[in-house]
Amino acid sequence: MKALVLEEKGKLALREFDIPGELRPRDVRIKTHTVGICGSDVHYYTHGKIGHFVVNEPMVLGHEASGIVIECGAEVTDLKPGDRVCMEPGIPDPDSRASKLGIYNVDPAVRFWATPPVHGCLTPEVIHPAAFTYKLPDNVSFAEGAMVEPFAIGMQAALRARIQPGDVAVVTGAGPIGMMVALAALAGGCAKVIVADLAQQKLDIIAGYDGIEVVNIRETPVAEAVAKRTGGWGADVVFECSGAAPAVLGMPQLARPGGTIVLVGMPVDPVPVDIVGLQAKELRLETVFRYANVYDRAIALMASGKVDLTPLISDSIPFADSIAAFDRAVEARETDVKLQIVMPE
Ligand code: ZN
Repeated sequence: MKALVLEEKGKLALREFDIPGELRPRDVRIKTHTVGICGSDVHYYTHGKIGHFVVNEPMVLGHEASGIVIECGAEVTDLKPGDRVCMEPGIPDPDSRASKLGIYNVDPAVRFWATPPVHGCLTPEVIHPAAFTYKLPDNVSFAEGAMVEPFAIGMQAALRARIQPGDVAVVTGAGPIGMMVALAALAGGCAKVIVADLAQQKLDIIAGYDGIEVVNIRETPVAEAVAKRTGGWGADVVFECSGAAPAVLGMPQLARPGGTIVLVGMPVDPVPVDIVGLQAKELRLETVFRYANVYDRAIALMASGKVDLTPLISDSIPFADSIAAFDRAVEARETDVKLQIVMPE
């Protein structure tokens, strides 16, 4: 089968590549339909590694996927061939201590698509555990199904924040994840979400949603904008989604006394944190690494119409043009939020 293979840093190939694997009793075989390009896929392409995950051998990219079930293992009861589904890409060891605690996202044994040495899903067929394969309601498209994965991070962040109805939140960083976090926070009960970034075109896209206000930090310091919009009190929740050192340092200034900070963005290198700033307001600090137990909620919100992610899908590109799609993603065009690859019929 053809697959989009990262041969080594900077070198992609669309070539025959068989991912080893057999259909075990609790697995399903899925014909992939749509796969979103993630910042992590692009980072592996351009840098050959993320932290201590290094691409040492050819690896199939892609982890944000929807598809159709084409075969079920003998013990699969809740899915059948023909079901439209999306797939959760991180598979923990079900017997691990982390899995038993319900925090399987931080299971040291987790195997996550397109994270070395695990292959991803940019190939026409994949085998996946049924327990991590979710049926899509009829009114959720394949394109939206492939958005569940990045939206799941927003869901995890919103759940960690323990949002109260009517909260005001700030999101620093309007990349795809910042946008997902902002929309999950709104769906979670925030009255208003202020999104701050440097890129005006990205801010314009997210400003199209009711309940979102934007700040271009080239024009106005984010602390000033937040103070003005909260009567000097600060935001109930601050979601840091940029991973940028100045944003991390400035977090306590944005929060109200007793408020919450959720760390979502991942700095490439260690960055300083204003501990006294956190203490002086008794801020609660939460961290997010991927997600656990949020897919059902994410899909339910999308099906209810409370969250519409379609405006964030910038383009759909055929599988045959995957390499060009990745090169476009590397350019990080300011108007692109999410590029998706559509597999052949
Ligand atoms: Zn992703």
